[in-house]
Amino acid sequence: MPWILTPTVKESRNSAIFVSIQLRTSATHRASRQSHEMQSCLRAVEGRDWYTSKNALWGALRMNQPAVVVHYHELWLKGGNRRFFVSKLANALRLGLEGIPVEKIERPNDRLVVRLKAGASLEETLRRLERISGIAYYAIARPVEADLGVLCDAAWAEVEPLAFDTFAVRAKRSDKSFAHRSSEIETIVGRHVLDRLRDAGRNARVKLNDPDVTCRIEITSGPALVYARKIPGPGGLPANTAGKMMCLLSGGFDSAVAAYQMMKRGAHLSFAHFYGTGAQPGESSLHVARGLVRQLVPWQFSAKLYRIPFESIQREIVRYAPESCRVLLYRRMMLRIAEVLARRDHAVAFVTGDSLGQVASQTLRNMVAVEAAAKLPVFRPLAGTDKLEIIALARKIGTHDISAEPFHDCCPVFMPRSPALHATPAELDAAESKLDLPQLVRQGIAGTALESYRYVAGRVESTEVPLHRPKEKQDAAIA
Ligand code: ATP
Ligand code: MG
Repeated sequence: MPWILTPTVKESRNSAIFVSIQLRTSATHRASRQSHEMQSCLRAVEGRDWYTSKNALWGALRMNQPAVVVHYHELWLKGGNRRFFVSKLANALRLGLEGIPVEKIERPNDRLVVRLKAGASLEETLRRLERISGIAYYAIARPVEADLGVLCDAAWAEVEPLAFDTFAVRAKRSDKSFAHRSSEIETIVGRHVLDRLRDAGRNARVKLNDPDVTCRIEITSGPALVYARKIPGPGGLPANTAGKMMCLLSGGFDSAVAAYQMMKRGAHLSFAHFYGTGAQPGESSLHVARGLVRQLVPWQFSAKLYRIPFESIQREIVRYAPESCRVLLYRRMMLRIAEVLARRDHAVAFVTGDSLGQVASQTLRNMVAVEAAAKLPVFRPLAGTDKLEIIALARKIGTHDISAEPFHDCCPVFMPRSPALHATPAELDAAESKLDLPQLVRQGIAGTALESYRYVAGRVESTEVPLHRPKEKQDAAIA
C-alpha cells in the first residue's frame, strides 16, 4: 500500500486554500498523523504569498528529514554589521527551535541552514519560524546525494507540482570538491527539467531574469540541498538587536500591536501595566495583560511585566485636578512611574499604542502635552495606522482574542464629561499644581509587582520576582 492518502487541494476564488484528504483504504495511525501534519502545515502558511503550497508541501512531508534554508534581507548587512546580525539571527533560531531535534545550524554564505534530525516535526518547525524576526523568507529543502543524476531527479520532484510559465535553476557550490562548477550544474539540471516539462506536455520556458519559479541547488559539505518553494518569513530584524524599551501595555488592541512592531525591529521590551481594582472583587485587567505578554514574549524570548495598582493615584488626580484634564494626567503619571522602572531596566525609550486622533487624549497637541512629562522619548509606532489595520495585525499576531476579552479598564474610570482636546504642556503643569507628584510616583513604585517571562522549548514560563527598589536610584529617577 504505497499511498493511502489522496490530498485534493482546491483554491477558492479569493485564493484561500482548502485541503481535503480522502483515505483510500483503511487509515493507519501513521497516515492520519501525516494528514494532520499536512493540514496544520497548510494552516501555518495560509494567507501568505505562497504560490506553491498544494502538492509541493505534501512532497515536503514525504522527504527524509528536510532541511530549512533561511534567507535574510540584505538591507541590514550594510557596513560592518553583518557578523553581529547573522549571529543574532542564528541565536534566535537556536532559541526559537529549542526542543525540536536539530542536527546543526550552518551559515553558508548569505543564508542559514537548519538541518533537522529524525523525529523533528516540520509542522512545529514552521510554526516556530513564524515568530523569528529577521527571516525574509525560508524554504523546505530536499537533502540529497551530491550527484548530478540525483540532483536532476530532485529538481524535477521539486518543480513538477508547481504551476508556472517560466523557471530557472540556480546553483551554489560552497563545497568546492564537487567536480562540476555552478554554471555547469545549472545548465545540466535546467536542461533536464525542461525536457521533463516538454515530455509532460507543459509549455514552460527558461527565463534567467525574474522567473516565476527558481529551483535552487546548494552543494554544501553535507548532503546537497534542492528547493523551489519560497515561504515568506516574518521579516524585520533579529530579536534583541536594537536596544531596550519600556512598553505601556493596556489591555486594548493597540499597545500589544505597537509592542509587536517594535520587537519586530529588534527592540527588547519590558511591559508596564496599570490596573484598577475592578468593578467586581477580583476582577481587573491583569489577566488580559498577562495573556498579551505570554503571546508576545516568543518574539523576544524573555520579558518583564510590571503590574502597577493605579486606582488610588487616579483618585488623587480626580480630587485635586480639573476634570477636563483627567485622562491626560493619568497618562502623564503612567509615564512618570514607568520611567523609574524603565531606568531600572536600562530602557532608553517608551512604546505606546497611541494612534493620531483615535480618541480625545490622542489629538496631536494632547499627545505632545502628555509626552512633556517624560524625560525619555516616546515612540508611537501606530501613530499613522487606522484602527482596522491595527485589528488586522492583532489577528495576525494572535493578540486580538486576548484583547477582546472583557476586562475592567482603569482609564475610563472617572471619565470627564468634556475632555480637553488641545492641551498644552503648561496647562497640564498648572493642572497638576495641587498634586504631590514625587509622592504619587513613590506610591506607584511601592505598589509595583514584577513577573518575569521566558520562552523555552516552545512554551512560555512565568515567575513572580521580588522587585528590588534601591532607594537612592529611585529618588534620583523621580527627581
Ligand atoms: P484601545 O485598543 O482600547 O484603544 P489602547 O491600548 O490603545 O487600547 P488607549 O486608551 O487608546 O488604549 O490608550 C493609549 C495608550 O496609553 C495605550 O496604547 C497604552 O500604551 C497606554 N495605556 C493606556 N492605558 C494603559 C494602562 N492601563 N496601562 C498601561 N498603559 C496604558
Ligand atoms: Mg488606543
